[in-house]
Order: sequence, then structure tokens, then C-alpha cells
Amino acid sequence: MLRQRIPEKRGAAFEVAAGDTFEVTDPEGQQVADLVAFNADDHAERFSTKYSYRRNGKVRVTDGDTLYTTRGREILTITGDDCGTHDLLYAPCNEWVLEEYYDQPDQNGCRENLTEALEPLGVDEELVLDTLNVFMKSTIAEQTYIDIREPQSEPGDAVQFRAEQDCYVAVSSCAGESVVNAGETNPIDVSVPDGTELHTNF
Ligand SMILES: [Zn+2]
Repeated sequence: MLRQRIPEKRGAAFEVAAGDTFEVTDPEGQQVADLVAFNADDHAERFSTKYSYRRNGKVRVTDGDTLYTTRGREILTITGDDCGTHDLLYAPCNEWVLEEYYDQPDQNGCRENLTEALEPLGVDEELVLDTLNVFMKSTIAEQTYIDIREPQSEPGDAVQFRAEQDCYVAVSSCAGESVVNAGETNPIDVSVPDGTELHTNF
């Protein structure tokens, strides 16, 4: 496997073939990584949070669970998970989220970083919206209100994925200087099959 560090507040994209595995690691702990996935031949078919809730019957996923596409087909399966706490509820942070919620004006959020990393693969920003927020902890109170808590990931925690179809994957190191990343941002590592070409915005 080829291990690549994504610096804080940046993104990387790569292609994986059906059956390939890759890994997302939080090297320092309590750092969120947003992840998107697209069918390599037809980007309109992409990872869908809502159809992943529908297929799994739950709003949290971990080892053994599968992520589904906008067409209800399998795209990624989680085959290992050191942390166990991830989020499917929140959209990726972006420029206005950072400014309005975290007092970080004029900065790329995860949506921009994922889009920039995916640009060489021809994926449009409009399609970059549904993310698995790896290591992010969200809560639901009174069956109604959602809120963000500090990540539960410890240094070195990793999540392994297996591709269920040929797909493009992008991962960002979340840019929020807030509770979402326990107050500060850090890098994220991805491990991909040897020979995989990585597209990055750093
Ligand atoms: Zn983010």
C-alpha cells in the first residue's frame, strides 16, 4: 500500500477498482476526514447518505456496513474500523459554513477541497455534497436536534474500505477549527493500492 499524508485543510482524490481496498487514518487523533465516492464511468451515480440510511436501516455505519449510491447500489464496504464513531448526517463544511459557524472567513472547507482534488477526474462541485464524515461525532437529541461533538478517534485509528465498483474516491482533512475537530485541525493519512495516482490540492 502507498501511504499519503493529506496536510490539514486539504484534499486528495484517487481511483480504485472493484475489489480494491484503501484506508483512512487519523494520525494524531480527533481529526475528521470527509469522504465522497463516485462511479468511475458515470459520476451522476455517487455515494448517497440518504440511500445508505435506507439500505442499512440506521444513520451510523461501522465495520461490516456498506455505503450505497444514488441508484441504491453498493459502492464501498467498511471492512475494518478502529474508531466506530462516524457521521452521515452533516453535509461537508464549506466556505460559508466556516465563516458563519466557525469564524474562519475566506477559507476552503471540505467541499471546496474535495472538489479541487476531484477536478482532474472531471467531477463537478454540484455532485460533491454527500459525505461520510469519518471520525466525526454527531448527536441526535429528543429525536429531533442534531449537534456536533468532539471526535472519538485516537492517534493511529484507521478505517478500511473495500470498493464494490470501480470508483473515484476523495478524502479531505476537515478544516473546522471547532469542536468538530476538538478545536484544532490536523492531517489525515490515506493508504491506497501501490501504483495508484493521487490527485491533490497541495
Ligand atoms: Zn469539514
